[in-house]
Amino acid sequence: MLDNLTNFLLVAQEGPLLIEPVNADELLDETLNGVLNEVVNGAVDMSTWANFGYLLAAVLFILGIKGMTHPRTAVRGNLFGSLGMLTAVLVTLYVTKVPLIIWLAGILVGTAGGVWLARTIQMTQMPQLVALFNGFGGIASVLVAGAEVIRGASAATDVAVAGVAAGLTGLIGSVTFTGSLIAAAKLQELPRFKKPFSIGGQQIINAVLLAIGLFLVLEMCDGSGWEYLPLTLVALALGVMLVAPIGGADMPVVIALLNSYSGLAAAAAGFVINNNVLIIAGSLVGASGLVLTKIMCQAMNRSLINVLFGKFEVTTSAADADEVYAGKIKSTSADEVAMLLDGVQRVVVVPGYGLAVAQAQHAVREMADLLEANGVTVEYAIHPVAGRMPGHMNVLLAEADVPYDLLKEMDEINPTFSQCDVAIVIGANDVVNPVADTDPTSPIAGMPILNVIDARTVVVIKRSLSPGFAGIPNPLFAADNCLMLFGDAKKVLVELVSALKEN
Ligand code: NAP
Repeated sequence: MLDNLTNFLLVAQEGPLLIEPVNADELLDETLNGVLNEVVNGAVDMSTWANFGYLLAAVLFILGIKGMTHPRTAVRGNLFGSLGMLTAVLVTLYVTKVPLIIWLAGILVGTAGGVWLARTIQMTQMPQLVALFNGFGGIASVLVAGAEVIRGASAATDVAVAGVAAGLTGLIGSVTFTGSLIAAAKLQELPRFKKPFSIGGQQIINAVLLAIGLFLVLEMCDGSGWEYLPLTLVALALGVMLVAPIGGADMPVVIALLNSYSGLAAAAAGFVINNNVLIIAGSLVGASGLVLTKIMCQAMNRSLINVLFGKFEVTTSAADADEVYAGKIKSTSADEVAMLLDGVQRVVVVPGYGLAVAQAQHAVREMADLLEANGVTVEYAIHPVAGRMPGHMNVLLAEADVPYDLLKEMDEINPTFSQCDVAIVIGANDVVNPVADTDPTSPIAGMPILNVIDARTVVVIKRSLSPGFAGIPNPLFAADNCLMLFGDAKKVLVELVSALKEN
């Protein structure tokens, strides 16, 4: 049966093969039959049960990730993932013979912390939380490997393998920890971290720190372990130096990459303590983080090298904004927009971060229902980096039960803006900023945007002319076909809904 388990774990680690449900199911069946036979024969020892528990956890993780691939199955996916984690934790506590009181205390503290975070963190603060989770994952792996180094008792049989695995855990986990803390501070827009900062010769310093880190990792081959502390210190500094100069607009890519690093650190820690489920879960996180990084880079038309080593300059000044907007802004009212919407055929709603801040998703739905009742086609244009986390707008609109088939991705909807009567931009700014196409020095240069400017009329709902995340003015607001409807998105939409009802 252990052969079957090993086979299944190998298949699981190769990831894409799991998409072949027949093979995986057959293997799982064989494995389950093997377990049942051995149970019947009374030949199952504790380590077999533990491996079976880890196998179950791995299967739940994989089903969890599969579930996340579609909004309809995402909640179930989340549940599978959580169950997988609970199974892995319980099995580990059981096999390592941790006293019951410590088990219970740990589960109580962890659950209380999780519930508190889930209840208090706003949806708009989710990216910072994800960044912190990545960082905690990284430092947890560093501590696990560090404890094994101190005990001098790695479960890996080969001293060199154990040393390198511990070294890589220390290196990647520490970079993830400090890099994630800096990323969270930037996303929180803490004053000190709001703007990218760099010092002269930054890239040379980074290269030297990385070289020292790798040298110390290789030095750990002899199993002496003294290198672990200096290695983690160097890597902690490297994490700060790598993320500090990266601009806010590139943070989504950095978070995705750090997510991948936290997985790699966990997988390396799995080799140190010889724990299959850690290797599998870490590899899954590492691989999915890399895929997400690639998707985010494509969405922002940035190469990873450019994000990591390119310089991010905030080229804006108050004078620039004056130059862009002076005398060109046309503001409107909810009543006027309701009249404009009378008799139109197609409306495209473009949600952005401000929609999430105002929690106006239900008001949007109400407006759309009224328009649809009048025979208007209403669709939603979803930019991949709108809001502050991947899928932010999908989650928000799903809360208001907006049908998924009305959510159109950028590539699909962009060619159709010219057949749109009114584009209503709600709390979006950077993702509709035409300078991405026209100004190569702009921080969002090259980022594909939603071409709302092609619509017959654009209505932008926001509170002021303040810039978005990238900190730059938006010439769309001064365009001939653009009307500004100033105010908090929820308040304005409620007014618009009552104006539509009166019409
Ligand atoms: P944005 O460029 O950040 O602009 C949001 C706009 O919402 C602001 O200009 C703000 O203007 C307005 N706003 C804020 N509160 C509002 C309220 N209560 N009512 C109405 N409007 C409100 O947002 P975006 O167009 O969605 O672009 C996202 C940006 O975030 C991109 O630069 C992206 O790279 C970055 N980012 C994305 C992610 C991700 O994964 N999606 C993660 C991190 C960063 P006023 O203050 O004038 O109202």
